[in-house]
Amino acid sequence: MSFEPGTLHQPSGASVRTALVTGAAGFIGSALCRELRARAWRVIALDDLSSGWRERLIEDAGLAFVLGDARDGAILEPLIERSDIVVHLAARVGVRRILESPAACARENVEGVEALLAAISALPRARRPRVLCASSSEVYADSEEPLSETHALRELALDGRFAYAASKRRAEELLDASGLWPRERAPVHLRFFNVVGPGQDAASGMVLPRFLEQAARHEALQVFGDGTQVRTFAHVDDVARMLARLCERGDALPGGALNVGGRATADVRTLAHLVLEVSGSRGGLCHVDPRAELGRDFREVRTRRADLARLEASCGPIVARSLEAIVRDACARHRAPSAPSWIPPCASLAS
Ligand code: NAD
Repeated sequence: MSFEPGTLHQPSGASVRTALVTGAAGFIGSALCRELRARAWRVIALDDLSSGWRERLIEDAGLAFVLGDARDGAILEPLIERSDIVVHLAARVGVRRILESPAACARENVEGVEALLAAISALPRARRPRVLCASSSEVYADSEEPLSETHALRELALDGRFAYAASKRRAEELLDASGLWPRERAPVHLRFFNVVGPGQDAASGMVLPRFLEQAARHEALQVFGDGTQVRTFAHVDDVARMLARLCERGDALPGGALNVGGRATADVRTLAHLVLEVSGSRGGLCHVDPRAELGRDFREVRTRRADLARLEASCGPIVARSLEAIVRDACARHRAPSAPSWIPPCASLAS
């Protein structure tokens, strides 16, 4: 269904609510749209398809797809007017894409939030939607310990390896400084840890889809460095469920930084061995210098583990898959999103 102005309703009463999801044709955005629809939300799905695929979205009477740039106020304003909540996910994502043009990526990400704020400021205070905005666990300074929301943040420049993290931190600062909402409805900064699952785009440089596609071709899985870098992984459908539960808390949801992720913490070598075992690939693995792949500016973050206490307090008990369950599901259902046979993963169970 294409978007026709007027087909969606004004901010709704308690029964049916409307969410504007930017970056909706992306990996996380499309999973969130499915989850919100399963919970009978109306969804306005905005995406410029710069790295997303419309085929990821299940369009029905309750989901309107809007093709457009989330930095364009003329597009945003009428959509925001119709929304109870905005989940802003549109961004340039992935270490490979960012390192191709760090400053431009950072600028685009910041411009997206500036446009959002400008559009919301045009509305009377009482009609301003709640905002959940994608940030990243990359904003945290390096640490071997699980990172809670109060952990020190990285010193950042809007250029080079951490330009992406800098843009996310700048976005948080802009939202916090805007004064557009009363304190109890302040924006939520979603600090995602590694979100993975079937249908993620390997071109972005994300580790699991790269491994899955190499395994499917029986090529050696390319492990960056010695593979001892540690990450916390979450299945995209589990994350979508957490995000939908956050949306459902509405004005009761506290604002500020919020870690979003799962409980599957492992090093990259362990992940690679699991992919080999589950896929039955005969390619083995090899170690490569990431700077040869990603350029001289690349710098590895050794450890990034999530402390999820605040998330649990915000959206209730976290049901998150083990690493093995994530890899099994991803191996069974992954297709490169650009493949003609690509089918969106099933909607998860609303709970
Ligand atoms: P993705 O690349 O799959 O999705 C981003 C979507 O935004 C794409 O569909 C793209 O076409 C769209 N987009 C980009 N710029 C746009 C613009 N100006 N206007 C409209 N649409 C635009 O990435 P994802 O993994 O789904 O990430 C979603 C959000 O979560 C991003 O903000 C990302 O920075 C953040 N995040 C993701 C992870 C992760 O592990 N996937 C980790 C940390 C943070």
